[in-house]
Amino acid sequence: MQTTKKDIRALTREQLRDFFISRGDKAFRGNQVYEWLWIKSAHSFEEMTNLSLETREMLEANFVINHIRVDQMQRSSDGTIKNAVRLHDGLVVESVLIPTPTRTTACVSSQVGCSLDCKFCATARLKRMRNLNPDEIYDQVVAIDNESRLYFDRPLSNIVFMGMGEPLMNYNNVLKAIEKITSKEGLGMSPRRITVSTSGVPKMIRKLADDQVKFKLAVSLHSAIDEVRTAIMPFNEHFPLQELRDALQHWYDKTKSRITYEYVVWKGINDRPEDVKALVQFCRFAPSKVNLIEYNPIGDEHFKQADFSAIEMYKKTLESNGITVTVRRSRGKDIDAACGQLANKQA
Ligand code: SAH
Repeated sequence: MQTTKKDIRALTREQLRDFFISRGDKAFRGNQVYEWLWIKSAHSFEEMTNLSLETREMLEANFVINHIRVDQMQRSSDGTIKNAVRLHDGLVVESVLIPTPTRTTACVSSQVGCSLDCKFCATARLKRMRNLNPDEIYDQVVAIDNESRLYFDRPLSNIVFMGMGEPLMNYNNVLKAIEKITSKEGLGMSPRRITVSTSGVPKMIRKLADDQVKFKLAVSLHSAIDEVRTAIMPFNEHFPLQELRDALQHWYDKTKSRITYEYVVWKGINDRPEDVKALVQFCRFAPSKVNLIEYNPIGDEHFKQADFSAIEMYKKTLESNGITVTVRRSRGKDIDAACGQLANKQA
């Protein structure tokens, strides 16, 4: 009978030490294995050369290392890199490395597919298959950190949870991954360089605030009018803007951390003066800034990037109301790596 081996990376350092003690071995072996797994990113027990062959074979007999594998790497003409990441069960997610002159940002996935149904997003067309576990999230970051060192001669500087999936629907695993990313035993990154983006799940935003997290929060708002938002993000019907707003207020009260609103302006959908007015109102109750994102077409006639004049209207109105606004150009469009384009086309 085949016994199912345990995923060794689900064990804490303490548990690894206990495992060796329980076998009559030294606790420090647990530290050695932990370092191989988390500092040296070992993909196999074979690599753990400071352990005896016997110990390596014993580990092999008891555990697996469910490491991700970067199946395919595509490079955009603008330097953006997209990784197709194969998971141990054969499913695929994507992550993106976005370089600027001063930064390297990793855009990572939190779920295989997505359970939400934003009409303008390619990932929403995939069924949500499962949540990623903490290691699978962490591994994506490590893979991009390695690519950044290799191709840009510098370590990864920022992380955004803006890949596939809704991070707050995979709350515990996302938080565990961030814990590892920020811990000295992982990558030691500052939480201030990490942004979690949500389409706006009020209950989970409150939980983030109560858990006193130190990373930044971005909300994919796209409209501050319920009717409009529900038409393009149907789950808004269950979490209306008032609830979102209350949750965000709570977030700000607890964390004092400014919220970023991501916002695409579409022709005939949210390009009227009243749309801008509603956004200005929405931005008033907690310190925030607005990122106007360029729309990346996903083959739906209904959605078209708004005219330049509409973007200008948004920018001017927000600025004259004292709200910081940035207009973000898309990166990696030629390899389907831009916002909303992640859909495993190659898989
Ligand atoms: N589910 C989370 C994380 C995904 S982030 C969230 O919604 O925030 C991906 C970002 O890209 C979101 O802001 C999303 O609204 C935006 N987006 C989705 N489809 C897009 C498209 N076709 N063009 C531009 N932005 C898009």
